[in-house]
Amino acid sequence: MKTLGIIGGMSWESTAEYYRLINEGVRTRLGGLHSAELLIKSVDFHPVEQLQVRGDWQTMGRDLAAMAAVLEGAGAEGIILATNTMHKVAPAIEEMIGVPFLHIADAAAGAIRRAGIERVGLLGTAFTMEEEFYRRRMTERFGIEVMIPPSEDRRLIHRVIYDELCLGECRSDSRDEFVRICEDLGNEGARGIVLGCTEIPLLIQQGHLNLPVFDTTAIHCAAAVDFMIHT
Ligand code: GLU
Repeated sequence: MKTLGIIGGMSWESTAEYYRLINEGVRTRLGGLHSAELLIKSVDFHPVEQLQVRGDWQTMGRDLAAMAAVLEGAGAEGIILATNTMHKVAPAIEEMIGVPFLHIADAAAGAIRRAGIERVGLLGTAFTMEEEFYRRRMTERFGIEVMIPPSEDRRLIHRVIYDELCLGECRSDSRDEFVRICEDLGNEGARGIVLGCTEIPLLIQQGHLNLPVFDTTAIHCAAAVDFMIHT
C-alpha cells in the first residue's frame, strides 16, 4: 500500500470524513485489520478563511505547497487536498511536489463521465461555483457542461457552508433550500448534481434527490484508495 498525504482542516468536519472513508475503503479492499497509511497535515481554518476573504490566494498557494512538500518529505507517495475550494491553488502545489497530486475535480469528472452524464449542476462555495478553476477544468478536460445556481442561491449556499456546515451544524431548513436549489437546476436541464464542497454531503445525500448525486468527498476518497492500493 502506498502512503497518502492529506492536507486537511478546511474544514476538519469534512477531513474527519476523509479519514473515515479512506480507512473504510482500504479495509474493504484488503480486509481484516488493514487500515490506511496516512500522513495528515490539518490546518487552522480561521486564518485560511481570512485569506480567502482578502483574496490572498498567493499566500495560500505558497503555504499549502510548503505543506505538501513537508508531507512528501515525510514519506507521502501521493497528495490530496481535502477541499474543493482550495484547488484554486492546486497549480502551486503541483509545481512544488514530485509525487502525484490527485485533483478532486478530475476524480469527480471521471465519475460523471462513467455515469454517462454530460450536464451537471454544481453546488459549492462562491469561489468554486463562480470562478473558472473548477468548472473550466471539467469542461475542457472532460467535456462536461457545468451549470450553477442563480446569484441569490449561490449566496445562500456559501453562507450555509461557512456559517453552519464548517461549524458542524446541519439544519433541516438549510437542507430543504439545498434540495429546492438542486431541483431548480434539474428543471433547467442538469442531469446530475455535483456536491462540490466537501461539507455538503454532511447535509444532503443521494436519498434527498431524484437526480444522480456526485459526492466529491466520497469520490475523492475512492480515488485515493485506488491510488494507494492499485498503482
Ligand atoms: N471544504 C469546502 C470545499 O470543499 C469549503 C471550505 C474551504 O474554503 O476550503 O470547498
